[in-house]
Amino acid sequence: ATLAASPLLAHLNPEQLAAVTLPAGHALILAGAGSGKTRVLTTRIAWLLQNGLATPGGILAVTFTNKAAKEMVARLSAMLPFSVRGMWIGTFHGLCNRLLRAHHQAAGLPQSFQILDTQDQLSAIKRLCKQFNVDDERFPPKQLQYFIAGCKEEGQRPRDVVATDPDARKKVELYQLYEEQCQREGVVDFGELMLRSFELLRDNDPLRAHYQRRFAHILVDEFQDTNKLQYAWLKQLAGEEVDGHLEARGSVIAVGDDDQSIYAFRGARVGNMADFVREFGVQRQIKLEHNYRSYSNILDAANHLISHNSARLGKNLRTDQGPGEPVRVFEASSDIAEAHWMVDEIKQLVKNDGLARQEIAVLYRSNAQSRVIESALFNASIPYRVYGGLRFFERAEIKHALAYLRLLENPHDDTSFARVVNFPPRGIGARSIEVLQDAARAVGCSLHDAVSTVPGKAGANLGAFVALVDVLREQTQGHNLRSIIERMLDATGLIEHYRTEKEGQDRIENLQELVNAAESFVTLEGFGRDAVALPLDEHGAPLTQSPASQGLDVDAPLRDAPLASAAVPGMVDVDTGETLSPLAAFLTHAALEAGDNQAQAGQDAVQLMTVHASKGLEFDAVFIGGLEDGLFPHENALGDRGGIEEERRLMYVAITRARQRLYLSHSQTRMLHGQTRYNTQSRFFDELPEGALKWITPRHPGFGKFAPDSGAACAYSAGSGGRFGFKSDTFASPPVPPQKAAPAHGLRAGINVFHTKFGEGKVLAIEGTGDDARAQVSFARHGTKWLALAVAKLTVVD
Ligand code: ATP
Ligand code: MG
Repeated sequence: ATLAASPLLAHLNPEQLAAVTLPAGHALILAGAGSGKTRVLTTRIAWLLQNGLATPGGILAVTFTNKAAKEMVARLSAMLPFSVRGMWIGTFHGLCNRLLRAHHQAAGLPQSFQILDTQDQLSAIKRLCKQFNVDDERFPPKQLQYFIAGCKEEGQRPRDVVATDPDARKKVELYQLYEEQCQREGVVDFGELMLRSFELLRDNDPLRAHYQRRFAHILVDEFQDTNKLQYAWLKQLAGEEVDGHLEARGSVIAVGDDDQSIYAFRGARVGNMADFVREFGVQRQIKLEHNYRSYSNILDAANHLISHNSARLGKNLRTDQGPGEPVRVFEASSDIAEAHWMVDEIKQLVKNDGLARQEIAVLYRSNAQSRVIESALFNASIPYRVYGGLRFFERAEIKHALAYLRLLENPHDDTSFARVVNFPPRGIGARSIEVLQDAARAVGCSLHDAVSTVPGKAGANLGAFVALVDVLREQTQGHNLRSIIERMLDATGLIEHYRTEKEGQDRIENLQELVNAAESFVTLEGFGRDAVALPLDEHGAPLTQSPASQGLDVDAPLRDAPLASAAVPGMVDVDTGETLSPLAAFLTHAALEAGDNQAQAGQDAVQLMTVHASKGLEFDAVFIGGLEDGLFPHENALGDRGGIEEERRLMYVAITRARQRLYLSHSQTRMLHGQTRYNTQSRFFDELPEGALKWITPRHPGFGKFAPDSGAACAYSAGSGGRFGFKSDTFASPPVPPQKAAPAHGLRAGINVFHTKFGEGKVLAIEGTGDDARAQVSFARHGTKWLALAVAKLTVVD
């Protein structure tokens, strides 16, 4: 009783208090979102320490993300009058790393072992395959990578794998060789971190006994998302297994919510909860049913939605807070319009409701969705930060693609050259690159120009790379930006490279999104503009239109919107009319957008992240965009019940992040994966309680009622205020682009022209209309240039 009187415990409800002050022993806390699970876990650590029931060294706490771990340490430091260093708080990978560094000799590793990320791992496997002359059609390196990662997740070394046919035996042999190579080089991949430290504990009795004695208190947050190996690892630390029953020394407290299990695709096993109760002989299970996070409209939405799942462990959530604002639902005509609506609402939340920007989150199902939202925030000068993923233009695959594009513009861009000379891998090793760099340095030329001086096979490989880029440049002369990017993605093998990679689908989507970015850059901003934002109307169409665009059909689809007003002076040479090529202008735009709107550390910024990355977090206001069938729920999940249920849990996680305000939106059209899609709203809208919602735009019949057997998510009904004006009984077909006015300049590709400064040349391409018209001209003596026709004086010569 005296222990319970601590001020730490003042604000806990009776169930929480019981959980925090549990006597030694194992326990499962099973409770819904926002019920204080994480808070209970943190408070229990503080309570144990404060009352001398544990020392900092006796605590091991596992959280799901580094961010969550940091937050836990920070909160503990604030609660306690002494230093909390010495506690082991971190992610599974982080804790394994710590264990292996501490016992590197016993684990058979150099202390300074390097960690291979997924990319590095693949390169290592490719190198290996080359060395042993492995037929990479029969044994694609990426498949070997899955195979190895899968074995490790199952706790299997090569000798443990049962191989029945020759191919399987070959894979196991390669797994063995890969292990030897990693061992020789002193590197460890992610799977190895986990498996190696598991084995270290399993095979080393004194060490295991030491840690079992030491960690009297093991606490695991987000237990529903642990996989098989992680669970086995926990068991090693907790105690000795005798006849399937664990004779544990310390206490293990696991905290979880089956409704928030969202990592099945990575091997997470909800079944670990039942195993834990059985194998640990858990006596105490505590349910927390009071939600402290959200107003009841938000909670009702979450409860309603998740009640559509079967096989739940069954929990209820209630709140004492009032209903709060209704959940606002918006239907946009396009993804851009959706982003603009979000930005408008965010502005109001900050201005009228006094919310801090960092208390506002925008969540999305797929990473590729962030680009349009980033762009809208950028144009509105609202600082934002992207979590659990890089900002669009900083993502590795985008940087690789941009490097190729830069090389098309400028073959002597050495940074870009070095970035992609061996990406995708084409057998050019670090050694060859070194030789090349030395040669370039000696002569004082670019890497590109030094290639011919490198002898032998290395020289031939380098030559092939240079030829690839040079040919691509040649072939894309006169092409528009979209076509240049598409051909580049294809010819360089970037798309192909990611096709079979584990997280490759996401990267491919991002690369396709780059095509969209270029497209809307050209149509909305006009390529000559120095990344200056145009004011847009609520549909996302530019407000300032050039004279040439006036009188065009206002219902024209956004993507065919007329070009913006003429190129900004300064980007055009006023004497010659020379302007940046669309590609160069786009690259400038990309560099600017990547460069400086990223919120400074500590700056108040809107938070952008995927729903997966939002787990465990909370915000005053939450926006969930792209609620369309095929996107959320994701198209890969539409086929089976299990898939839909996992998507529904994901949606449950998303909704329950919100404290005060929740905004849901979907869009009739969306540029995704390189094409316009016509979407129906997510089936999840049918599973939300009407009374908690407020439709800002008129509500449509839901998925189930409207298109019962349409899995393709391509139906669209009108009468919605949609701006495309389809008849109400028709399904959408791609909108017809507006008629382009006949060009006034009288130029077309193929004809010869004369320029006062550059002399004779041939027109390769024309872009834009009216004041925006530009021509790409290949001059005999001055090479290829882009000219703004409103400025450049060109005369037709034939
Ligand atoms: P999730 O499932 O999303 O991880 P959770 O169950 O871990 O949620 P917490 O993040 O611990 O929930 O708590 C949700 C919010 O409720 C936090 O802001 C927390 O401070 C607050 N909270 C928890 N318990 C109480 C309480 N007894 N009184 C007041 N606020 C509380
Ligand atoms: Mg939590």
